[in-house]
Amino acid sequence: MRGFRGLSLRTRVTLLTLAILLTIIWSSAFITGRTLQRDVGEVLGAQQLGTAAIIAATIDNELKERQHALESMATSLAKADMHDAAGLQRELAQHLVFQNLFNGGSFITQADGTALATMPVTVRRQGVNYMDRDYLQGALRAGQTSFGRPVMGRKIAAPVIAMATPIRDAQGHIVGALAGVINLSQSNFLDSSGYNQISKTGNYLLVDARHRVIITDARKQRVLEALPAPGVRPWADRFIAGFEGNLTFVNAAGVEVFSSIKQIPAAGWYVAVQIPTAQAFAPITAMQHQIWLTALVLTLLAGLLTWGMLTRELAPLQATERALTALRQGQDALGHLPLTRSREVNSLIDAINSLIDELAERQAALNESEALYRTAFRTNPDAVSIGRVRDGQFIDVNDGFTRIYGWRREETFGQTAESLGIWTAADRAALVEALGPDGHCQDLEVERRAKNGRVFSALVSSTRVTLAGEPCVLTVTRDITEQKAVAEQIQQLAYTDPLTYLPNRRLLMDRLQQSIANSVRHHWLGALVYIDLDDFKTLNDTQGHDKGDLFLVEVADRLSASIRRGDTVARLGGDEFVVLLEHLSAHIDEAATQARQVAEKILTALSQPSQLEGVAHHGSASIGITLFGDQAENATEPLRRADLAMYQAKAAGRKTLCFFDPQMQARISARVALEARMREALTQQHFELHYQPQVNEAGQILGVEALVRWQDPQRGMVSPADFIPLAEETGLILPLGAWVLETACKQLHDWAQQRDRAHWKISVNVSARQIHGDDFVDQVKAVLLRTGAPAQKLMLELTESLLVTNIEATIAKMTAIKALGVSFSLDDFGTGFSSLSYLKRLPLDELKIDRSFVRDILIDPNDTAIARMVVALGNSLGLAVIAEGVETAAQRDALASLGCLRYQGYYFSKPLPLAQLEALETGRV
Ligand code: C2E
Ligand code: CA
Ligand code: CA
Repeated sequence: MRGFRGLSLRTRVTLLTLAILLTIIWSSAFITGRTLQRDVGEVLGAQQLGTAAIIAATIDNELKERQHALESMATSLAKADMHDAAGLQRELAQHLVFQNLFNGGSFITQADGTALATMPVTVRRQGVNYMDRDYLQGALRAGQTSFGRPVMGRKIAAPVIAMATPIRDAQGHIVGALAGVINLSQSNFLDSSGYNQISKTGNYLLVDARHRVIITDARKQRVLEALPAPGVRPWADRFIAGFEGNLTFVNAAGVEVFSSIKQIPAAGWYVAVQIPTAQAFAPITAMQHQIWLTALVLTLLAGLLTWGMLTRELAPLQATERALTALRQGQDALGHLPLTRSREVNSLIDAINSLIDELAERQAALNESEALYRTAFRTNPDAVSIGRVRDGQFIDVNDGFTRIYGWRREETFGQTAESLGIWTAADRAALVEALGPDGHCQDLEVERRAKNGRVFSALVSSTRVTLAGEPCVLTVTRDITEQKAVAEQIQQLAYTDPLTYLPNRRLLMDRLQQSIANSVRHHWLGALVYIDLDDFKTLNDTQGHDKGDLFLVEVADRLSASIRRGDTVARLGGDEFVVLLEHLSAHIDEAATQARQVAEKILTALSQPSQLEGVAHHGSASIGITLFGDQAENATEPLRRADLAMYQAKAAGRKTLCFFDPQMQARISARVALEARMREALTQQHFELHYQPQVNEAGQILGVEALVRWQDPQRGMVSPADFIPLAEETGLILPLGAWVLETACKQLHDWAQQRDRAHWKISVNVSARQIHGDDFVDQVKAVLLRTGAPAQKLMLELTESLLVTNIEATIAKMTAIKALGVSFSLDDFGTGFSSLSYLKRLPLDELKIDRSFVRDILIDPNDTAIARMVVALGNSLGLAVIAEGVETAAQRDALASLGCLRYQGYYFSKPLPLAQLEALETGRV
């Protein structure tokens, strides 16, 4: 079948046509032949059967004639004397006609079967007993005319058939028999039918069916031949059984014969007329051969015609195929195929041409797309390469490849990544593994080597692709050197302080947390040393931030120099540093000593004078220390403890170190409790205002300072010195301050209605968080509006320290508030570091000489000088000057002599509840 498919269409169609034609012509020839043979056979059969019937009838007649002759002769012999042999002989010889019927002669026997007379006399039968012959037995014993079986004659040396009839005397007794003999070897009536002369090849056969013996045959030697035993020749058995008709069979000689059978019942014989079928059907066979020959010629003709026609019809198709092949091989531009003379092929060409158009369009689209992707490939900033899987050789690389690896495109041809030294065989194996079964890997971080030997980190993404049937790998390599550097930098920034490059708070907390865990696990202790620079703000304020920064860097260096390797120095921010000491003794006292030694070293280091770009600076630090590692805890805990200890050191006079101790913890707890109570006090309105009069040189009350008091139901009066700092720390000062302002303004409003007190002013203390808050200006405005207090009577007291930060914004706010009519006093003046330039710009109305100067004004000439300077300053800036903390008349007089004419202090009055204040003799103290 494969072979057939492999043949050309032309050959196949031709073969198929031939096959069909052959089948039709040959089968019809065959059928015709068959039909003809059958029809002719029928005709032939009828004829031959007719011949057989005629022969049978003839023989039957002849037999009957002989029987009749025999019987009438026997009747005439009845009168003869059976003892007179000569008489019988004469009698026999007289009947010449009778003699002619039996060519083998005739004879008369007596009753015992002994021949008495015989004709012709040459056959000497006299005295011979024939009683053993069946025909004689039939005649003598059964008294019937009987035929004998063909036998060899006793006196005639030839096959014979005899018949006999009884001779009866007048009484009817059988006295003898008359027998006639037919010599089968001589011409006789049995073969005189002449049939054998009609047919050259045919045969005529007479068979004694009863005795299974051939009586007559064209081949004389077969006469007397016995038929084989039953079952050997089935057809012979059928004939013997009485079959009449036609039959074709292969005879004993192996020749197929066409036989017609007729029975001769009277004799128990049958006649078979036979002709070899080859001969019988010779004309038909000849005709059949004729037909086959014609069929063959016709078939060949048809084949040739088909072949020729196909060759002609397929020519345009082949021409088209050649044109297509040329087109495909790119010999011709993608143009239309030429039309041919064949309509069918033309419609095919039309279809192909529209396909070509479509193809051309697609090709154009493909070209565009290819150009696009090629551009994308070329201009990709990453290195893009395509390599064959087979041998690893590069097929193409882009400009990015050249830029990143340094290899030019031409240099990569025929090379592999290994041969260029871009990677090693191990790298290839790693990539192949990464590609996995799905043939893709994304952002594999690897190292690659450039032409100049530079080894760099890269992200590699690879995909298996097939290019023109060739398995390839497309690889995009991104040089991430910069990216990594940036990432490292970011990491650095995230964990280091940008000024000192020390670890920052975050990194410290990480390490501390780890250190705690380590210490607990290994049973040793660690220490956290919290360092806060003393007076750093002053340095910043007086020398500028540049110098401050320089000093911080210097501090960082000195700290780093003071510690062991493996310990950590970190900057928490501002002027706060932390040193983390790890792996100290497991013994608390020993560990504390180790930590103290380091801390003292640090103290010494930091108290060395430093040169900050020409400016000499004497710094110092306060240090808080705590141990950790005796228990698992959060890193914030040791840090908080060290911080507290640091505050303790500050409180202890700075430039010193302090260990965290539990008592301090208790104080902290107390503070926490205080805060909670204060919140409650705010809601429960346990706060009230006391007022301390401010007087002139005549002792007349000009106004009061409002001072907040906390009436705690359990603890009684709580001093503002105890809770104001905490309120400022926690932010509670905001609601508290608002309450104070509101209460004072209500009071102002009240007094405005009273003739004696309408001129009283109220000074309200404002803390840093209040004025630095977003809405302080609005708050003041709103309170004035709400309470209806005269703004001119409200004075706000600010401290110098409040002016340290956000000076510009503070000035702006003060100016805005001053525009409302409110005035400002600078509290605690002389303790801070207000520079004169600031003072000039502040919209102030009053300077308040601090209590500390007033206290020793009579003893310490420095304080006297300061007081004098403040008065002079006030005068020159056009500001009023008031002294607070005046406790004695001497102090008042001293101040007066310096030119300070307003006073506040116990000498005049302590801060008083409203009722007591109003109970004072109006206007006087
Ligand atoms: P300050 O503003 O300097 O207030 C003056 C303090 O000196 C008051 O203490 C007052 O009782 C006290 N004092 C007055 N005359 C004399 C004297 O002759 N000798 C002595 N030794 N002391 C005298 P107080 O009332 O305990 O207030 C302490 C601080 O609490 C105030 O100092 C102020 O800074 C703050 N404070 C009080 N009330 C408020 C408030 O309502 N708001 C804000 N922000 N702070 C307030
Ligand atoms: Ca004050
Ligand atoms: Ca004060």
